[in-house]
Amino acid sequence: MLKFDESARIIAQESRFVPGGVNSNFRLGMGHGPLVFTHGEGAYLHDVDGNKIIDYYCGMGAMVLGHSPAGVQAAVKAQVDKGILFAGQSQVEYDAAHIICDRIPSAEKLRFGSSGSEVAQAAMRLSRAATGRRTILKFEGHYHGWFDNILWSTAPALADAGSGDHPALVPGSKGQSTADADGLDILQWNDLAAVEARLARGDVAAVLMEAAMCNQGAISPLPGYLEGVQAACRKHGTILIFDEVITGFRLGQKGAQGRFNVTPDLSIFAKAIANGFPVAAIVGRADLMDLFATGGVLHGGTFNSQPVPMAAMLATQLALTPEHYEKSSKYGVRLRDGLRSVLADAGIKAQVTGFELMFHVAFGLDAPAQNYRDLAKSDKAGYARFAQALLRNGVRVLERGAWFVSSEHNDEVVDKTLEAARAAAMEIA
Ligand code: PLP
Repeated sequence: MLKFDESARIIAQESRFVPGGVNSNFRLGMGHGPLVFTHGEGAYLHDVDGNKIIDYYCGMGAMVLGHSPAGVQAAVKAQVDKGILFAGQSQVEYDAAHIICDRIPSAEKLRFGSSGSEVAQAAMRLSRAATGRRTILKFEGHYHGWFDNILWSTAPALADAGSGDHPALVPGSKGQSTADADGLDILQWNDLAAVEARLARGDVAAVLMEAAMCNQGAISPLPGYLEGVQAACRKHGTILIFDEVITGFRLGQKGAQGRFNVTPDLSIFAKAIANGFPVAAIVGRADLMDLFATGGVLHGGTFNSQPVPMAAMLATQLALTPEHYEKSSKYGVRLRDGLRSVLADAGIKAQVTGFELMFHVAFGLDAPAQNYRDLAKSDKAGYARFAQALLRNGVRVLERGAWFVSSEHNDEVVDKTLEAARAAAMEIA
């Protein structure tokens, strides 16, 4: 059984300087407490207690090539020697732009940023400018960053969430005011009739959604849903934005839009685009994107297209070949199927849903969730106990149920994971 005493000691000590000992709230709140790591290697992280842990956080989804991708590391080292920040252009950012425009169906043009939260803001601003309308329609359980005007109903308690037909806008943080939600409207996801009815009012600038709901759960769009939303958007002059911060480069080289064959007007990417380096992108129709250059729509950022992350991005993309997806998908599918059997053998009712390189495990549900409200009825406390037991057995997974797989999670790693899962399931059964 792994122990985490040194991590706990350091977190307690450093909390004097850094609130909670962490620099993102999403690293708080785990049953075992936040961990402190020394280094990463393939599918593994090493911590200050000397533990070697199989990691399925994968940098919250970013590390699609694992923790020590040689090509990315070499590209970064070479770029650092050439300079750090020019506040001007360099060829590496154009090379990086070309490869994304080549790969992503909706990407006629793009702009780079540094985080998913900030490119979500850029997409909302662009949509409002292009349409002259104010309302952004979002969906319960979908997360588009931590800023005040969009951090609403990302994971609301059902008691606060109002009725399914008219969900309430619930803030995700203290310090937000109802004025911040002015210009937002909310619906349940996967309900096409609700979107059609709302857009018919003619005042919605943009529909913003994860094309597969992956920040909470790993829920596929119902057949015809994305196509139907796209048709309604076209009919009513509304811009369709896909948030591909998680799905991009995980659901395949062309993202969720390629996988489901629906091309939005705008989309945003981050996380796996550069295997852990701070790169984000807003991409889309040329006429919309050009508003940044000639339409009076401001998009800025000191660190945008910084050459070192750009070099990391380019090297990441070069490694994300069809062979990469084929190979890592086999590991992901084996793992997903193996977990289903392990949990069933232990008598634990669970739904394992999602994709090859990103899936979700929910305890206590009779059928796969189709929206946030279904998912919210799962046994979260039971799954958290499983996740904590897994960690004691050397496997780190998010307590909210997400599993991120990289090309380093090979057959040997999958075997070890399933062994640990068997032990963890016995512990909690
Ligand atoms: N959109 C989705 C779907 C996300 O999962 C996240 C982060 O988890 C974001 C946007 C925000 O990205 P970032 O954390 O890079 O600001």
